[in-house]
Amino acid sequence: MSVLIFVDHIDGHIKKASHEALSYGAKIAEQTGTTAEAVILGTVNDDLEKLGEHGVKKVYQVQNEQLQQFDSQVYTKVIAQVAQQSGAKVIIFSNNSSGKALAPRVAVRLKAGLAAGVNALPDTSNGFTVRKTVFSGKAFAQVAIDTEIKVLSLNVNAFTIITGEGKAEVIPFDAIVESPKLKTIDSTKTSGKVSLTEADVVVSAGRGLKGPENWGMVEELADTLGAALACSRPVADAHWRPHNEHVGQTGIAIAPNLYVAVGISGAIQHLAGVNRSKVIVVINKDPEAPFFKAADYGVVGDAFEIVPKLTSAIKKLKG
Ligand code: FAD
Repeated sequence: MSVLIFVDHIDGHIKKASHEALSYGAKIAEQTGTTAEAVILGTVNDDLEKLGEHGVKKVYQVQNEQLQQFDSQVYTKVIAQVAQQSGAKVIIFSNNSSGKALAPRVAVRLKAGLAAGVNALPDTSNGFTVRKTVFSGKAFAQVAIDTEIKVLSLNVNAFTIITGEGKAEVIPFDAIVESPKLKTIDSTKTSGKVSLTEADVVVSAGRGLKGPENWGMVEELADTLGAALACSRPVADAHWRPHNEHVGQTGIAIAPNLYVAVGISGAIQHLAGVNRSKVIVVINKDPEAPFFKAADYGVVGDAFEIVPKLTSAIKKLKG
């Protein structure tokens, strides 16, 4: 019996969300007196032995040409093989785009119970109960899973990365890998210097900026902070910014450590995609803007005055 954590990667590097999932899985293993193991599909530049620092004992690596490109159907079957052969009873994914595609599929394949979007360690004192977010993060639910195998997807930023000592044993895993049924014929990298879903800091702007010609100051703030750019939906609808920057209920859901919202009112549909950010800073000229209720820090004032001042203050601080 073991806890198996799926390790997700991009551009040759393991995603931060996976380091969180590994730490979370290792804690569950410790709590239940079992072993934490990881599975990675494809090749990365990172040192897999170092995953042992999160408490993982083994890393199963499945290398096959067909796995270099993410395909949820192919990946599901491979992960299920690893889970079955390793005897995993708890399987953990990050609740990011690949985890959202894989966790339900793997759960169906293994006849497992699924809790998607968990944000705390399970209570294993009497059965297996875990807390998850529901209604776009507006509420929590406690769910009990009573199947033999349990699949969990962990919300991004919900668990602190634990780093200690230890080396994981990297074990090549020989899986049956099917040919993908879908072929990606073209892909475009999202705009911006930093990937929005992976970013620690996001600077976002809304209709308060009046027009696309005013985005220069927002880009400069983002560059100064090493942040990704985002926007509200009307901004993307009006083609001021590309749709891959649109965050919210109908856009991308993000959970950075810092979210800076400039000239965004804070409508519920916008908040649904950003309310899992650790710290929210709101800049808005209307003191009654609903976003201030969700903000950790608020600045009431004109963005056209505040943003350049903020950027130059940060530049000075950075020397
Ligand atoms: P506005 O509501 O126009 O707000 C602009 C803000 O800028 C105001 O608060 C104003 O005080 C402030 N402002 C103006 N000038 C300045 C200035 N000089 N300095 C500082 N502040 C200033 N929206 C999303 O963002 N994401 C979604 O995923 C999404 N999904 C939706 C799904 C549905 C089904 C529906 C019905 C709506 C959805 N919306 C979504 C739209 C959402 O309801 C809001 O209309 C939208 O978020 C408002 O965008 P905004 O805050 O940029 O614009």
